[in-house]
Amino acid sequence: MDVLTIETASKTYPVYVGTNILDQLSVFIKDSIPDLTTIMVITDETVAKLYSNDIRAALENFNTEFCIVPSGERAKTFDVYYQALSFAFEKKLDRKSLVIAFGGGAIGDLGGFVASTYMRGIPFIQVPTTILSHDSAVGGKVAINHPLGKNMIGSFYQPEAVLYDLTFLQSLPQNEKLSGFAEVIKHSLIHDPSFYDWLVTNINSIEALDGEKLHHSLKRGIEIKNHFVSKDERETGIRAYLNFGHTLGHAIEAEMGYGQWTHGESVMVGILFALQLSKDFAGLNFQTEPLKEWLHQLGYETEIPQELSVQNLVSRMKQDKKSIGQKVNFVLLEEIGRPKLYEVSDEEIEKQLLIFQQ
Ligand code: NAD
Ligand code: MG
Repeated sequence: MDVLTIETASKTYPVYVGTNILDQLSVFIKDSIPDLTTIMVITDETVAKLYSNDIRAALENFNTEFCIVPSGERAKTFDVYYQALSFAFEKKLDRKSLVIAFGGGAIGDLGGFVASTYMRGIPFIQVPTTILSHDSAVGGKVAINHPLGKNMIGSFYQPEAVLYDLTFLQSLPQNEKLSGFAEVIKHSLIHDPSFYDWLVTNINSIEALDGEKLHHSLKRGIEIKNHFVSKDERETGIRAYLNFGHTLGHAIEAEMGYGQWTHGESVMVGILFALQLSKDFAGLNFQTEPLKEWLHQLGYETEIPQELSVQNLVSRMKQDKKSIGQKVNFVLLEEIGRPKLYEVSDEEIEKQLLIFQQ
C-alpha cells in the first residue's frame, strides 16, 4: 500500500492506494475522527449490489446507515441531493457524524456536496471504486448538476481521507475503464513525458490492466493531479491545465447526448485535437500516429463521430465556461509535460476541425 499526501491550502489529507486495503478504513476512522456518532454511507445501486457486504463488514464496529441512490449521473440531481439530506436528518446525523462516499465520481461528487452543506459541513471520506475516481476523488471539487449546467452547484470541500482499494476496479465495464484511463493518459501528457513513455510501453490492454501496472498508473495519476490542485485549490491558475482535451471533449460528449460516449472517450478525441492545435500554435514537436495506433489497440475512438456538425461543436465550445469573449481558451502543449493556455478564434477552430476530420 502507498500513502500519498494531498496538501491544499485548506487541508492536508492522506490517499491510501493499494489492493485489499479496506481494513484500513476503520483504523483511519478510529485514529482520526474523535467522538464519532453515526456514519452515513452514500453509494449507488450498482456498487451496493456488488460490494455492500464488504463495506458493511469493514464498518461493523460503527453505527452505520446506508443511503443508496441511482447509479451514474442520475445521482447528481437536486432531487437525489435533497433525499440524501432528508435521510441524514431522519438518521439524526450531527456535527460528529461522518459521510463515506462509496462509488465512482458521481457518488464522490454527490456525497462530498451533501457533507459540505449538511449543518454547514461535516467530515467525509472518499472510498472510490472507478478508474476515473483517481481524478475525481482528489482535489476537493464536489457538485451536483443543474439542467442548465453540469457540476454548476457545488463547493470546494476536501475529504478527511481517500481510501482507494483497487480490488473494486476489476468489475468495471470496459467502457468505464477506458473512460477513467483517458484521464491517466491526460495526466501524463500535461506533466510527465517519462510517465507517458512508460504508459505507451507498458500498457497494451485496458481489459487486462491490473496488479502493479494498474497501481503505478493510478498512483502517478493522483500525484500529478495533486501537483496541480495543491498549488491552486480554487482554480485561479494552473489547475485549468487539467482541462487539457476537455474543450472539444465536453462538446462531443454533449453533442452526442450524455451517456452515448463516456466522458473519457470524448476527452481522448479532444486530446488528439488539442495535440494538433499544439503543433500549429504552440510549437509542439510530436508524432501523433504512434499515439493513435496505441489508442486503437487499447480500444479508443480517435475521430469525431461522423454525425456531429463542426458548427455545433464550435458553438458548444464557445459556451464552455472556460472561454473568454469570442475566443475559446485552449490548453495546449509547448512540449509534452509543458501546458499553456492559448486563445483560439472561432474561424481557426472551425478550420482546424475540418483538417482534423480528414
Ligand atoms: P460514476 O460514479 O457514474 O461511475 C460510472 C458507472 O460505473 C456507474 O454506473 C457506476 O454505478 C458504475 N460503477 C462504479 N464502480 C463500479 C465498480 N467497481 N464495478 C462496476 N461498476 C461500477 O462515474 P465516474 O466515471 O467514476 O465519474 C464520473 C463523474 O465524476 C462525473 O459526474 C464527473 O462530473 C465527476 N468528476 C468529478 C471530478 C472532480 O474533481 N470532482 C473530476 C472528474 C470527474
Ligand atoms: Mg475529466
